[in-house]
Amino acid sequence: MNPRFPPFNQYISYFNNLRPPKMKKGILTCACLLSIALGLSQSTEEIVSAIQKEATENSQLENLAHELMDVIGPRLVGTPQMKNANDWAVAKYAKWGIAAENQEWGKWRGWERGITHIDLVSPRVVSLSGMQLAWSPSTGQKGVTANLITLPAVADSLAFVKWLPNVKGKFVMVSMHQPTGRPDYNWEEFATEQSFEKMKTARDSLVKVWRQNMNNTGYTSRNINKALEKSGALGIVQSRWSNGFGANKIFSAGTDKIPAVDLSLEDYGLLYRMVQNGANPQIKVVAESKELGTVPTFNTIATIPGKELPNEYVILSAHFDSWDGATGATDNGTGTITMMEAARILKKIYPNPKRTIIIGLWGSEEQGLNGSRAFVEDNPDIVKGLQAAFNQDNGTGRVVNILGQGFLHAYDYVGRWLEAVPEDISQHIETSFPGNPARGGSDYASFVAVGAPAFSLSSLSWSYWNYTWHTNLDTYDKIVFDDVRNNAILTAIMAYMASEDPEKTSREKSVLGINPRTGEKGVWPEPRSPNRNGGLD
Ligand SMILES: [Zn+2]
Repeated sequence: MNPRFPPFNQYISYFNNLRPPKMKKGILTCACLLSIALGLSQSTEEIVSAIQKEATENSQLENLAHELMDVIGPRLVGTPQMKNANDWAVAKYAKWGIAAENQEWGKWRGWERGITHIDLVSPRVVSLSGMQLAWSPSTGQKGVTANLITLPAVADSLAFVKWLPNVKGKFVMVSMHQPTGRPDYNWEEFATEQSFEKMKTARDSLVKVWRQNMNNTGYTSRNINKALEKSGALGIVQSRWSNGFGANKIFSAGTDKIPAVDLSLEDYGLLYRMVQNGANPQIKVVAESKELGTVPTFNTIATIPGKELPNEYVILSAHFDSWDGATGATDNGTGTITMMEAARILKKIYPNPKRTIIIGLWGSEEQGLNGSRAFVEDNPDIVKGLQAAFNQDNGTGRVVNILGQGFLHAYDYVGRWLEAVPEDISQHIETSFPGNPARGGSDYASFVAVGAPAFSLSSLSWSYWNYTWHTNLDTYDKIVFDDVRNNAILTAIMAYMASEDPEKTSREKSVLGINPRTGEKGVWPEPRSPNRNGGLD
């Protein structure tokens, strides 16, 4: 066990020392218990209002977010932290009286992020802001110290091949130098119209030249790292700006033996300008990750058994994994805690559902919906009995959109369920029916692909795409708890309504229209098999 990460039981005792949940039993709950005791069935209004009261007065969202994001941290597939999160969720469900287990669906390359320090050591000393990319090879404790080189302007791939030996013994800078670190909205607010236009024109032409030149090398930004590695580079330095102040995308390294790091826009710019102007900068990179062989990877599946129709299912769905540039707070920590909180509330308010309620927290969504695809493939009976699945995975915002995913009669049942949702929550939601079936994007697509009714509870953006999606800034402070609370209430009510519906949902597919891009008639997406052996090629 890595000494920097305490064993799991230490996490549990840490969590147990946190402020215990307040148990407030209001008049309503008492009334509910009384009516259950008398064998009276509660009205929809009573259940809905009890759900809302529990979510509002006894919210566990802040605790869940702290434990998951702050203490467990990022949840990259194949890391010990992902497994810690799986175990944490099972323990949390157990506390709430919900049966849960981790179901293995595949194997992945085991890897663990370590300390990253990147310093400019010559011509002056600056501690730079950056980190190693996911699955980057380690530099060892001593690190790697070397000069840098930028990609050359080349006429064709032959010229590039001729240049390649120049990378030997150097860090190679593989990203374009950004002309500004200010996002466009900031320029729009303060620049003169002329200088904003001038900047955009200059940047557009830089991007065009950069892309053409990358094309000329015969490589892409995806596979150039391996070519540089083969030619003797000591490391890769990139800066993948996400068009927001301080925000960079942090994906995987794309190297086998040499470290690959991402630097903040300006630290990268500083080095780039030094290289271009002959200041000959030297950096030291210490990036101490660990290779952990091949490890099993899991979905965490919780179940509240149905009393009347146990073989029909309502699934609350969210991916549990994340990229690891930050803590995956909005991708998909918020979706995760929404579903867990909805489960907790349902267990308390509606402990004997008509249909079985499953809460699926999927692994490795980020590498291609792998956990949910495996679940669909491995559980044909559950898929057959699926009444509806509700997935949330596009940030912390309140739900503002629900589409029919191409199911011809989704309007009837989803519309009916939404009618039970209080106005202060449903007023934000726009619906569109029948809509088109999702072909990817998140885990509901795994179900839609086999014709099972699954829907995305789609959020307001809160600058998701630029600031938090797969960035170094996806942290606890970006969570908007009132909106997440809103979504937990919505999810719990939709699950309750779907579970209680007198009818099984229709799966009849709408006839898809002509695709304007291809001119051809739309076809329903085909199910795809998961990658069950990841990162090992
Ligand atoms: Zn996501």
